[in-house]
Amino acid sequence: MSSLYIGGSWVRARAGGTREIRCPADGSLVGTVDEASAADTEAAIAAAREAFDEGPWPHLPTAERADVLLKVADLLQRDKADIARMESLDTGKRLAEGEYDVDDVTSVFRHYGESARSESERSVDVGRDDVESRVVHEPIGVCALITPWNYPLLQVAWKVAPCLVAGNTFVLKPSELTPHTAIHLMRLLEEAGVPAGVANLVLGAGADAGAPLSTDPRVDLVSFTGGVETGKRLMVNSAATVKKIALELGGKNPNIVFADADREAALDNALTAVFLHSGQVCSAGARLLVEESLHDELVAEIVKRAAAIRLGGPFDADAETGALISEAHLDKVTAYVDMAVAEGARLLVGGARATEGDLADGYFFPPTVLDDCDTTMRCVQEESFGPVVTIETFRDEEEAVRLANDSVYGLAGAVWTSDESKGERVARRMRMGTVWINDYHPYVAQAEWGGYKQSGIGRELGAAGLEEYRETKHIWRNLKPAPSEWFGSSSAD
Ligand code: NAD
Repeated sequence: MSSLYIGGSWVRARAGGTREIRCPADGSLVGTVDEASAADTEAAIAAAREAFDEGPWPHLPTAERADVLLKVADLLQRDKADIARMESLDTGKRLAEGEYDVDDVTSVFRHYGESARSESERSVDVGRDDVESRVVHEPIGVCALITPWNYPLLQVAWKVAPCLVAGNTFVLKPSELTPHTAIHLMRLLEEAGVPAGVANLVLGAGADAGAPLSTDPRVDLVSFTGGVETGKRLMVNSAATVKKIALELGGKNPNIVFADADREAALDNALTAVFLHSGQVCSAGARLLVEESLHDELVAEIVKRAAAIRLGGPFDADAETGALISEAHLDKVTAYVDMAVAEGARLLVGGARATEGDLADGYFFPPTVLDDCDTTMRCVQEESFGPVVTIETFRDEEEAVRLANDSVYGLAGAVWTSDESKGERVARRMRMGTVWINDYHPYVAQAEWGGYKQSGIGRELGAAGLEEYRETKHIWRNLKPAPSEWFGSSSAD
């Protein structure tokens, strides 16, 4: 079945390339999709350019585009069971998590469908009654949307919904590992009435299918979610044509637990922070910072509970978390744990591929706890993106903040304490785009998401997530035109 969507048609890859998608939990074949090359992506860019320059979409009233988003939200809920199944098969995550993701995706379309209905315009008082001055917002143009495999449709939704409602056209390139829900979304956009050429989909590897997205002069904006090294490369590529760029990159997120915290809540959430989706979460609390006096008690309990977490495939009702995305990723996580031990970390539980029973058929890695870690270690500084938590201890508030901020990343973090003012003080000093106080992981479509430092540039979600996709224009209208008489020669003698 043709799986590239270009100019309103479903087409095959020009060079005939295909890719088999296999479930990471058991290796079973999920489907075979087209593998685009640069020529397909260039055709998609041309279609998006034409739809922007000639088409009706950028000029529709915002409320009409917002209505399309609300329709998409309804269609996502109609197809929730199918979409959740596709997402779980592509990623190896539990079906319950796939279902949860579809609700999150729906909330993003609903949020922008409801909040972005009016033309945004601001009057500027220039102190003259002969001038009308306004600031208006317009779409940017053709957007390249590039997304990763960990929350495939969710990451797509964070870009597609604001991009569309702002009046842009786009070429989407999801991760080559997890294409099925993006294909389905294109069908829903088509059904909801998005005109031909506005939404385009190419599938394939970054180096080939993805390459033109950051180099082609017809693209105005690149919005990327993925690894920091890829982000840097895209930034360099985009510089040649001064594209606008938005980057949502990695994180190595500190979860600070003070001794005065609610222990059961802090403990339970420390597990969810890092082991949810087997650690394949950009905001995973992979660095646990524990106050010295609490260390032994907390760590002993974390080890006990981590060892009891049940692994399994998407449809295993007993499973609490699923597989890693690929063999290459499993090798990377294993290498990080080996490196940590070589650096002096103490391995308390986990640490090697899980191979019991059916798990041997998939890429399963058990929850892993590394103690005696410090910020000089690569296992603390670099993202393993697996179910691996490193533990550091601190003596006081000052040290907790210093350790938490000792990172090139600044995506997210948390602080656990029963002292309200300490929680607020520490949260304000943490150099991250999201900080939770006495919680971990929740986010909402209404609030901005993004990174400080090398975790990225720009924001997704919230009002700022929409502004990423809009140009700002100042219109000055002189109500009583007259010669300026700046130069003598312009005034008639
Ligand atoms: P990745 O950087 O390998 O790939 C991301 C996407 O970029 C894929 O679609 C890939 O094909 C594409 N790509 C690669 N090279 C390209 C090129 N030269 N031109 C165009 N496209 C190219 O990342 P990944 O392994 O898929 O995802 C994991 C990473 O994503 C982690 O670092 C994680 O922290 C990050 N992430 C961040 C957030 C966030 O909100 N900040 C959310 C999810 C994931």
